[in-house]
Parts: sequence; C-alpha cells; structure tokens
Amino acid sequence: MTRKKIVAGNWKMNGSLASNEQLLEGIIAKIESSSDSLVIVSSPSPYLGQVSELVKNTTVSLAAQNVSQHSSGAYTGEVSLDMLKEFSVEYVLVGHSERRTYYSETDSIVADKVKAVLESGMKPILCIGETLEERQAEQTLNVCVKQIDAVLNTVDVSNFENVVIAYEPVWAIGTGLSATAQQAQDVHEFIRKHIATYNANVAEKVQILYGGSVKANNSEELFSMADIDGALVGGASLIVDEFVGIIKAAG
Ligand code: PEP
Repeated sequence: MTRKKIVAGNWKMNGSLASNEQLLEGIIAKIESSSDSLVIVSSPSPYLGQVSELVKNTTVSLAAQNVSQHSSGAYTGEVSLDMLKEFSVEYVLVGHSERRTYYSETDSIVADKVKAVLESGMKPILCIGETLEERQAEQTLNVCVKQIDAVLNTVDVSNFENVVIAYEPVWAIGTGLSATAQQAQDVHEFIRKHIATYNANVAEKVQILYGGSVKANNSEELFSMADIDGALVGGASLIVDEFVGIIKAAG
C-alpha cells in the first residue's frame, strides 16, 4: 500500500521571532503545490502562536515538541494539551531521545503522553530508538519493541492509525552520522512486522519516519526504501534549502 510521506522538522531549542519568519517564508515559497507529502514544523512552545499564524492557509502543519500528560493544574513550567490546541497544533513529538535522556522521560511517561495526545484529538509523533551501546550489544530490535510495547500496553493498537512513529537511532541524532538506508529499512520493516503481530491492517497503514542526520543529499535513498515513510529532521530543518531538498526528495 502507498503511505503518504511525511517530512517533519524539529527545530529543538532554536529560533527567534525574526529567524522563524525568515525560515518559514523561505520554505513556503519553495514548496511545490503539487507535493504529495505532508510537511510539519515543530516549533518551541513560545513561538507556537507566531508559527501558527505563519502556516495558516499553507500546506504546512504545526507540531509541538512536548506536552504535559496532565490536563491542567500545579505543574509549573509545563504546557497542556488544551493550550496547544488553541494554537492549531496538530502533532506533538513524544519521547524524543533528548527528552528521555535529559528530562528522564520513562517509557511509562511516554505512553501516558501518547494516550493524552490521542485523547485530545492531536497526533503523537512517537520517537523510539537505540543508543550506540545498545546497537553494539545487538539490542536495537529489543529496545524498539520495549519502547513500542510500553505504548501498546496503554492504548489499543487501533489508535496507531493516528500515531506517527519516528525511528531515531540516538547515535545518529545531531552527529552527522546517519544510519544507512538499509540499516534504517531493516529496523522499519521489523517495527512494522512487530505491529502486525497486534493488527496487520494497522501495521500496513502506520507511517514510520526515520530520524538521525537526514540531509537533502541522503534523503532520496532513505525514501526509496519500502518501509521508510518520511523523515524527522533536526539540524537540516533550520536551513531552507536543506529542508526543501528533503521535501522534494519525498515527492
Ligand atoms: C532530531 O532532532 O530528531 C534529529 C533527527 O536531529 P538531526 O536531524 O539533527 O540528527
């Protein structure tokens, strides 16, 4: 089956009112209206209002980089689902390795966030992936299963029609060291087969993105792989020509 490709930019903790505007105007001006892919940008929380206005009436969708699993109340510094929805946020990154590593987000917290995002009517982009040590210890597939099963123990597999999975080997994020297209394909195929053990129909539909040093010059080969349905892009999403090059490679 043909799945729509997604190219999602993760700006991380970068940007300013001026640079966001310049970046988005550059991207929007260069995106082909004929493009079949879905383009998403994930802005830092303080800029969601600005970015939401800039992408209004364009083909670009808005994502947040994080959300609280709690609906409201005494959670200083956190951002709620309802707040995101007021800014027309459609997608939320959940479980990015930087959140898992620096902010101690466990599989259980990630699962609660996925559940909360789904219940709010937005779509989670669930990030999973192994560290270098885990890959060297041949634990890649076990790590992916553990991270996905934590979510599947919390929400029914049918919800995965509204979950985007991003396989992001931690050793490839921000390092310039991308997984090869074949390495990524092998893991994506495995993830799809694993989800098929729960529900084959959902497994065929679920979009699985690759993330980790994706650039314009390696995206075409990655996107040619049967189970790679797009990319989650960090550094290159901050450079107009790089990001547009990746979008064009997605078709
Ligand atoms: C990311 O932040 O999810 C990411 C993949 O970053 P980069 O493209 O810079 O490796």
